[in-house]
Amino acid sequence: MRASSLVRLAVTAAATAVTLNAQAPARTPLPNLEQMLGFKPGADRHLPSWKQVVDYYTALDKASPRVLTRVLGKTTLGRPFLATFISDSSTIANLERYRTIQKKLMDPRLRTAGDSREKLIEDGKNVILITLSIHSTEVGGWSTGLVLADRLARAETPEAKSILANTILIFVPSQNPDGVDIVGDWYRSTLGTPAEGTNPPELYHHYTGHDNNRDWYAFTQVETQYTVDSLYTLWDPEIVNDVHQQGGNAGRIFVPPYMDPVEPNIDPILTSSTNALGLEITWRMIADGKTGIANNASYDQWSPARQYSYYHRGARILTETASARLATAVDVPFERLGTGRGYDAREVTWNYPVLWPGGHWTYGDIVDYQVTASWALFVAAARDRRAWLESYAKMGERAVGTMPPWGRDAWPAAYVIPKSQPDAVATQRMIWMLQHGQVEVRESTAPVTVDGKTYPAGSYVIPMQQPYGGYAKSLLERQKYPNLFEYPGGPPKRPYDVTAHTLPLLLGVDVAAVMGAAPAAGAPIPAVKQPAYNAPGLSGTSTKRIGIYKSYAESMDEGWTRYVFDTYRIPYTSLHDKDMLAGNLKSKFDVIIIPDQSGNGIIRGVSPTYPDSLRGGLGEKGATVLSEFVEQGGTLLAFNEAANYAIDALKLPVRNVLVGVRQNDFYAPGSILSVEIDRSQPVAKSFTATVPAVWFENGPAFEPTDPSAVVVARYPTSVNPLLSGWLLGPEKINGKAALVDVAKGKGHAILYGFRPQYRGQPNSTYPLIWGAILR
Ligand SMILES: [Zn+2]
Repeated sequence: MRASSLVRLAVTAAATAVTLNAQAPARTPLPNLEQMLGFKPGADRHLPSWKQVVDYYTALDKASPRVLTRVLGKTTLGRPFLATFISDSSTIANLERYRTIQKKLMDPRLRTAGDSREKLIEDGKNVILITLSIHSTEVGGWSTGLVLADRLARAETPEAKSILANTILIFVPSQNPDGVDIVGDWYRSTLGTPAEGTNPPELYHHYTGHDNNRDWYAFTQVETQYTVDSLYTLWDPEIVNDVHQQGGNAGRIFVPPYMDPVEPNIDPILTSSTNALGLEITWRMIADGKTGIANNASYDQWSPARQYSYYHRGARILTETASARLATAVDVPFERLGTGRGYDAREVTWNYPVLWPGGHWTYGDIVDYQVTASWALFVAAARDRRAWLESYAKMGERAVGTMPPWGRDAWPAAYVIPKSQPDAVATQRMIWMLQHGQVEVRESTAPVTVDGKTYPAGSYVIPMQQPYGGYAKSLLERQKYPNLFEYPGGPPKRPYDVTAHTLPLLLGVDVAAVMGAAPAAGAPIPAVKQPAYNAPGLSGTSTKRIGIYKSYAESMDEGWTRYVFDTYRIPYTSLHDKDMLAGNLKSKFDVIIIPDQSGNGIIRGVSPTYPDSLRGGLGEKGATVLSEFVEQGGTLLAFNEAANYAIDALKLPVRNVLVGVRQNDFYAPGSILSVEIDRSQPVAKSFTATVPAVWFENGPAFEPTDPSAVVVARYPTSVNPLLSGWLLGPEKINGKAALVDVAKGKGHAILYGFRPQYRGQPNSTYPLIWGAILR
């Protein structure tokens, strides 16, 4: 959505509220939630459908002047994506006024002579964004939002009235509405069968599955875009309450503080305010009689991919409540409780102050914990409104002021990005991504010289002195992930997710950091459009018949593969086990892709609790049909772990040198590594990046054992391949192959020791996919 229409959305919203207020006496009574659902929210074995959720928030909008519900757009599969604002009726009627105050607090450059900082703080509201159930098997959030909205709309207590008076709450009832029905329909269809409570045999987001919460800087999915464009960009909330669930065998809920490491570009005000608020929530929950609350556990504070607000002035309160089996209760005796990361659920410690005694754990318990934690957050945020707004204003003032007084390394003054680049589309995409995250991009008004290289006037310039300079810096620089170990001499302490997010390396764009004085530059340039993506010889016009393997043991990498192919308009067919096992594949396909998945998952598929029609995987016969396919002239592409499967299944003359290597000796859990590319190879003929780099994530590294296996990309022979993130034991892969092209019979198997289409991000390695398809 364009910025102008976004502002219009907010204005229209406010205007509609005014109209509704004028008719206040004729309002319908508040809807009865239980009647609308047909069951009590949180009742065992009952999940609302997305239509029921939409109907309730819509009815609440009609009935209450405190509630404003809007559809922000259509989801990937066509469902309405909702946001609901809740506050005092007078605030809802004047949302645009409060949004203007919020913007002036956020960015001191927007304040006019008549704006007193003190008055803005006095008049402003503490804005809280509540994002629910982005992960659709974490089903508590579907009902938790309903219960909270109902309680706020009724606001019968002084505490509730204080929340409405001091805060603006913005609910995203589900960050993935499609998943509410994908999971809910599966759950209802399996009730009373052995599969009751299992995850659906498909991704719960059409393209991303669980990775939908790793999209907060690439903005590949429309759902991410709605929340960023229509909520974050317009409001930049002070606090984000992100409601999740975790495994069920340790604590009952996680509340911040987070574990180390802390990403160095996050304003420390946010780290400390998140810590303080998290502990306050914990305090209140314990006083309310809740048990099993863990702090400083499991979740770290590293990546913008899932912590957008941490780079945009918002304290991030992630809560992770223990799961049941979807809405089916479980029994967890105390003796079966184990350790979470950073605590032991059988020991009292400072960060796990009260034991959960074990026992029955129901869907209602999940909803109750989530509601209690959110309510505690709302109460504290309302009470401390002034402190939150003062901090918020302070962060804005120092972001546009002198260089930030935190971190270890000196900040550059700016980044310069020449317009003449090896890949113009990737460059445009990077500018689009940065602007989408509210980064101001300018153009230099004179040539800029960095390290002896001169960039012409008119190059893109991204000064660090701007409201979200730290966000831009985190995406443009190379990450130095700390060497963390479980204990001295012990294994590496695994990061919660991955360790790198350097856009210039992922996209293959040349960027230079300017130290010292910022280059002269003009005003921020208007928003660029997302580029049209095109793979020559494949997009729209491909004659190649491409199959993409789709396991019922769902693989996020498979979804991302489809996403990239759809984005590039390259036709393909999804191949389930039965399609593969039907054999005679060469008569139907020229190319088959097996996305990243463990060999075990590919061979065995889903567990025995699933219906017979879904079980089995590729089994032993898979190896036979795929060998035949390649022998007869087909091209097989195997990504990351699937390459190990292909080596075994096709008996390829390639060895994975990392088999059996301990994590103490080699570890790279999501990092960007440098490679040397043999551009004379057909697979690499359209590769363009100046700094060849691959996304390495617990993948294999190859050594050919026969000349029929040709190396297309290899890690450098002597220098450390690490460019961004974390790598232990670089010598284990020095000189080893990252990409090999193996001739077999009339065909080829192309093995990738990395993820060439990682989360829809690395434009730089997409040509290695196109080259393999067209070889
Ligand atoms: Zn989650």
